[in-house]
Amino acid sequence: CGIVGYIGSKQAYPILIKGLKRLEYRGYDSAGVGLISHESKLNVYKAKGKVSNLEDTASQKDTSGHTGIAHTRWATHGEPCQANAHPHLSQSGNLALVHNGIIENYATLREQLQEKGYTFKSSTDTEVLVQLIDYFQTTYDTELLEAIQMALHKVVGAYAIAVLDRRHPGQIIAARKSSPLVIGVGTDEFFLASDATPIVEYTDKVVYLQDGEIAILENGKPLKLVNLDNETQPAEIKKVDMNIGQLE
Ligand code: GLU
Repeated sequence: CGIVGYIGSKQAYPILIKGLKRLEYRGYDSAGVGLISHESKLNVYKAKGKVSNLEDTASQKDTSGHTGIAHTRWATHGEPCQANAHPHLSQSGNLALVHNGIIENYATLREQLQEKGYTFKSSTDTEVLVQLIDYFQTTYDTELLEAIQMALHKVVGAYAIAVLDRRHPGQIIAARKSSPLVIGVGTDEFFLASDATPIVEYTDKVVYLQDGEIAILENGKPLKLVNLDNETQPAEIKKVDMNIGQLE
């Protein structure tokens, strides 16, 4: 239902939590956050119910890190519970992914991955996506971007996704098809969200990701957009009204 992401020099966790709260108006049944810690650990915390439950779960835990993704879930496949909340981790433990939308061919993909030795920890359609990316990355020894492109070529359905790789703490990769995703372009930092509401308090420069586009948000680099065939796409930076979304 709702996605938030941050990469930059600030601590990601407070920005992500605030962003999730700004997206609460969309409705949701559970929430979660994934962060790459200062020790390059991938820490994922999830809770059924309110974002405040997630904050309770994550309190006393390591929420350090300058790179993170977060999600509020409106269940389509699999009951609302902690295991089904996003982010979902790959079997290797290297990748975390959040997803809005529906993967229509998830059952077939799950069977194929199970034949390859993958086990699943949730009953969501989403988990096949992170395992499929992991499968391509490990089988063909590719970079994350290439593995995501390969996986998205196999997927039927609607998605907005954001992916973290523990081994590349300075990077978030996001993609969309039929499900909205907005990138906020700050000074040496990027924001990511399902709509501009969580972004406007930090920057008025936004890029609305188009269907079939993949965004590479990388520390110290300009925003890069490519398509599934790795052709560079133009990033049209728009100015958003800073008053939009201040719904408090
Ligand atoms: N289909 C996914 C699930 O049920 C994502 C739902 C959403 O957009 O929140 O977990």
